[in-house]
Amino acid sequence: MNQVAQKPVPEPPIATLERWVTGPRFAAIPARSAATPAPALSFEFFPPKNEALETQLWACIRRLEPMQPRFVSVTYGAGGTTQARTHATVARIVQETGLTPAAHLTCVGASREQVDEVARHYWEAGVRHIVALRGDAPPGQEYTPHPRGYPYAVDLVAGLKRVADFEISVAAYPETHPTALNADHDLDNLKRKLDAGATRAITQYFFEGEVFLRFLDRALAAGITAPIVPGIMPVTNYAQAVKFSAMCGASVPGWMGGLFEGTEDDQETRRMIAAIVAAEQVRLLQANGVDEFHFYTLNRPDLTYAIAHILGVRPTK
Ligand SMILES: Cc1cc2nc3c(=O)[nH]c(=O)nc-3n(C[C@H](O)[C@H](O)[C@H](O)COP(=O)(O)OP(=O)(O)OC[C@H]3O[C@@H](n4cnc5c(N)ncnc54)[C@H](O)[C@@H]3O)c2cc1C
Repeated sequence: MNQVAQKPVPEPPIATLERWVTGPRFAAIPARSAATPAPALSFEFFPPKNEALETQLWACIRRLEPMQPRFVSVTYGAGGTTQARTHATVARIVQETGLTPAAHLTCVGASREQVDEVARHYWEAGVRHIVALRGDAPPGQEYTPHPRGYPYAVDLVAGLKRVADFEISVAAYPETHPTALNADHDLDNLKRKLDAGATRAITQYFFEGEVFLRFLDRALAAGITAPIVPGIMPVTNYAQAVKFSAMCGASVPGWMGGLFEGTEDDQETRRMIAAIVAAEQVRLLQANGVDEFHFYTLNRPDLTYAIAHILGVRPTK
């Protein structure tokens, strides 16, 4: 008689309650104490194009100021197009607020002398922190260094250090810069920027906490010890985020599309979803030990304020 092959009997699933009690968990929101201080925050703004946007920016700055960010940064338009506006915004922050500004500066379309001159003006205006970037070519064009310019951000970092003893932050890419030769080359570039005198990296935004945490592992293995601060972008407009992310090499997970599906004409729901997604993202990172966050505010304070509040940051009176 042929022996009938015995099928392996599947393990009975663990009873639901046991699974719930023993499964991986998201840490509880920590109670604030001297032992668990609130995280350090920084906020990014862009320079306004007109009076109405200027009013909006300043309302945003005033709303976020009591959250006592470590610094606030002001972007530099593609190709250096906002040089005067960036400078004016940063100078006003120095003069009219108690905030510490960081001015973004890029290598695009300017000689070393011109870039050094801009940096000297910042130093004279009391600005001590620069976010040093290569920058991008105008849309549709490939980046080519200015013939007498700083070719890459690493060269700009070294140049700025020759101008004055600036605190310098640089960019990092958890999903690799879109035109990098490969991920290892890109990470090596980050290390070189830090070795050249930068003291921290701020990341391109990302939506999966795991992407960032794996990047930290790789950075540490590559000998990087400076802080790599996650860039957090609360997204309210999903379609716009997909378009923009395709350009800067950030991936947008499918689940996000599902969350925003059907909310195209419902701004209020989109804003609530945005707050929940970003809050969950920062909470997951916080539960994994991350205690510094950089927010891309897009000159709108409410989501950043609410998420900072969830993280335990309280306004000063
Ligand atoms: C936090 C943050 C803030 C930003 N703010 C601005 C802003 O205000 N204004 C703006 O215009 N843009 C801004 N950007 C965008 C940034 O300018 C672009 O992503 C740009 O394409 C790269 O800038 P970088 O400083 O990372 O360049 P780099 O560090 O110089 O790297 C650029 C690319 O070149 C590669 N590379 C470096 N060295 C070499 C080499 N020797 N040979 C070959 N390849 C090399 C790198 O791997 C990378 O792919 C910001 C980005 C971030 C993450």
